[in-house]
Amino acid sequence: MHRLLQTPLHWQILAALVLGALSGLLLGETVLPVTFMGDLFLRALRMVIVPLIVTSIICGVSGLGASGNMGRLGAKTLAFYTISSLLAIVTGLLLANLVQPGVDADLGLQQQPENLAHSIERFGTSPWQALLRLVMDMVPTNPIAAMANGDMLQVIVFALLLGVFISRTPDALRQPLEAFFQGSFAVMMGITHFVLAFAPLGIFALVARTVATTGLEVFAGLGFYALTVFLGLVVHSCVTLPAILFFFGRTSPVRHAQAMSPALLTAFSTSSSSATLPLTLDSLENRAGISNRVTSFVAPLGATVNMDGTALYECVAAIFIAQAYGLELSFAQQLLVVVTALLASIGAAGIPMAGLVMISVILTAVGLPLEGVGLILAVDRVLDMCRTTVNVWSDSCGAAIIANFEGETHHTARA
Ligand code: ASP
Repeated sequence: MHRLLQTPLHWQILAALVLGALSGLLLGETVLPVTFMGDLFLRALRMVIVPLIVTSIICGVSGLGASGNMGRLGAKTLAFYTISSLLAIVTGLLLANLVQPGVDADLGLQQQPENLAHSIERFGTSPWQALLRLVMDMVPTNPIAAMANGDMLQVIVFALLLGVFISRTPDALRQPLEAFFQGSFAVMMGITHFVLAFAPLGIFALVARTVATTGLEVFAGLGFYALTVFLGLVVHSCVTLPAILFFFGRTSPVRHAQAMSPALLTAFSTSSSSATLPLTLDSLENRAGISNRVTSFVAPLGATVNMDGTALYECVAAIFIAQAYGLELSFAQQLLVVVTALLASIGAAGIPMAGLVMISVILTAVGLPLEGVGLILAVDRVLDMCRTTVNVWSDSCGAAIIANFEGETHHTARA
């Protein structure tokens, strides 16, 4: 038993993933009683997220010192997020036009979508309304309420402000505050490690449940669509991002992927960038050796706004729906799909199925029937697992690239 616990975490998680899939497949729904372990693990991860992010950001940002540094880091981070998401969307756009998964797809167009009224009400009907809403939603009217509700973007904005203004207070006041938050961050990392020790059990249960409750028949009629999304995700994560990482990040993609493996496997099993965040932070700092200064800024923000996998998926899904309804999208409409897919991926929360709900923003902007979302529901869970993995991979690549631009050398840097 003791030997088993000494196996590196990523092997434990991988074994749990395979065993979970096998149990779900062989035992079917009889495996469901153990799935409480999965929910327990997710609850424990959610428990650490807010205090971990707040203390991590405050330590990272107050350590940046003068706010000039902060602006430079922020600009680089946002540039990476935008460029990588746009590259993902263009990959999806090209593939969807090439494969044409929706043309002649046999979907029996009568399925009903989930209730989408809430997201439409929240994000409005035009891309500009969606953008305005996004900016508006970033400013918390009550930071404590934002933390209590787990409204991550608002929590991040407030923590950034705290970090910046702590660094600007006179030494006598700043030092005890910094010591307090550094101590708190160390304690939160300790709790996170404790929770992560249970990752294999939680992941076993989550994967077993997904496999036991999703049959292969969901792929009927949606096979080409699912394949197109999958292919796009593979191209983006195995070609585009590694190339950027290699040339601009001076980092070995293979070593970086190895370092990030606990986070990537957890993203795949939980379908949630936010729930994976504790592992992303831990893998970046302790396995890839990237400084807390860069990690604490790039990873939490990335988990909330940088979602390459989701952006690509949004684009393919919107075009698939148009094709399934026999509608030809003009060049201007496809451009609108690109812009709104970017906004939808920024606006999507890092939780399971958030991307599916956000498709309504694109459909409304382009004038496609909202019922289209109902068409792709069946395969969403599987695609969610894959796109979430790409979302987390992109955040981690961003951290390595920005660390390189900041003149840091980390463990996964190439020779
Ligand atoms: N589940 C994804 C994530 O957490 C978001 C999405 O649904 O696309 O990153």
